[in-house]
Amino acid sequence: MAYDQENIFAKILRGEIPCNKVYEDDHALAFHDINPQAPVHVLVIPKGEYVSMMDFTANAPADLMAGFMRAIGETARELELEENGYRILANAGEHAHQDVPHLHIHILGGKPLGPMLDRKFKGA
Ligand code: AMP
Repeated sequence: MAYDQENIFAKILRGEIPCNKVYEDDHALAFHDINPQAPVHVLVIPKGEYVSMMDFTANAPADLMAGFMRAIGETARELELEENGYRILANAGEHAHQDVPHLHIHILGGKPLGPMLDRKFKGA
């Protein structure tokens, strides 16, 4: 899938649309999700044109990959989520309901989050 430079996170990175910033460095930007699904719901995005984790891990330079991972940790620390815990996840593609085609990691926390998925997998 080709990168769409008009996706909403590309616009946030270019400063064309505002965001509620939590953390930023040379490799990544973290900001509050506009439609939070937990008391703390923050998105971390790499500074580069990557559609998904697959695209990122295949094509990003090593320093960006390392920097992005470090930024996720820094953001969780910034949000003071370390003590009680948190969940990170990334949706990729249609089956996972990825809405925005720029790689983003969700950081969720601020309350007990329950099991990872709502329902137990019952097969087929
Ligand atoms: P996903 O379904 O994994 O692609 O998640 C996309 C996330 O981006 C959703 O949780 C949205 O609420 C969030 N989102 C969409 N537009 C914005 C925005 N302008 N600022 C912050 N979060 C956004």
